[in-house]
Amino acid sequence: MRGLWLEDKKLDYRDNIPMAIPTAGEALIRVIQSGICQTDIEMVKGYYPFTGVIGHEFVGIVEESQDPSWLGKRVCGEINVSCGQCELCRRALYIHCTQRTVLGIWERNGSFAEYLSLPTRNLHVVPDNVYDDQAVFAEPLAAAVGIAEQVSIRPTDRVVVIGSGKLGNMIAQSLVLSGADMLVIGNQRSQLELLERRGIRTGFQDAIQDHRADVVVECTGNPAGFELACKAVRPRGTIVMKSTFKGQTQVNFSPLVVDEVSLIGSRSGPIGAALRLLAQGVVDVHPLIETRLPLSRALEAFELAQQPGKMKIILQMTGY
Ligand SMILES: [Zn+2]
Ligand SMILES: [Zn+2]
Repeated sequence: MRGLWLEDKKLDYRDNIPMAIPTAGEALIRVIQSGICQTDIEMVKGYYPFTGVIGHEFVGIVEESQDPSWLGKRVCGEINVSCGQCELCRRALYIHCTQRTVLGIWERNGSFAEYLSLPTRNLHVVPDNVYDDQAVFAEPLAAAVGIAEQVSIRPTDRVVVIGSGKLGNMIAQSLVLSGADMLVIGNQRSQLELLERRGIRTGFQDAIQDHRADVVVECTGNPAGFELACKAVRPRGTIVMKSTFKGQTQVNFSPLVVDEVSLIGSRSGPIGAALRLLAQGVVDVHPLIETRLPLSRALEAFELAQQPGKMKIILQMTGY
């Protein structure tokens, strides 16, 4: 099959990738389209030592499954495949399973290819009124919604989101539903305007009031964002950390200790909830699409995705 292969920090478009073969309990999914995420870009830089097909944000059609009720269904999928038996799985912490594979990230080929396989228990049927262009955002939107699983955000809270890119935008659109007083900090006027149009208050970094926010979400994808988060958070407040990048960060933790700040790492979230928000139309992802390119132009798409300020680049797998 055709796909995008990562090996030794080098991306290669290939037409001879072995066909995805589902094992017991897995479905074969024909990928319709797949979004390029910051994690994919970091993986090319060597964030994880992975060889294979990358990509984890997708919508596709089930073409093979032992359970015939899945056949022909349009689906999105949870990307963490857990063993169901280890201590963490027994505590229902499936995304932290010690034996896990992760679609396009760890020990499992991903979605920048014509086909992928995932266990049917990972799949979610896309509601009919959710277009492919929306469904392809279900995985990153789930990562945004997942914050509410870890941190309680009250309607009276001051929330500052540091980062106005694709993830920051979806975090703001979903968390603002709590009624909290929200401010999104970014450095690209066009990105801030997208949020302002939805009634969400935004500003450049000089809009941060020192140590006033109850909850700060850091999702800039770079080390500088954490410094701003430290500036914004109030004593006994919470910083939710969403950025993953290659390399190390130097942080002076002392002020955080003195101010008794909670640091919460946050990764994945519930895709079913993300699909509900999309179906209800309360989160609008259409303005987040920069452009779409066929799989055959995937390398060009990656070049584009790495330019600063670019929104979601979608790879179209079929129809080309
Ligand atoms: Zn991602
Ligand atoms: Zn497990």
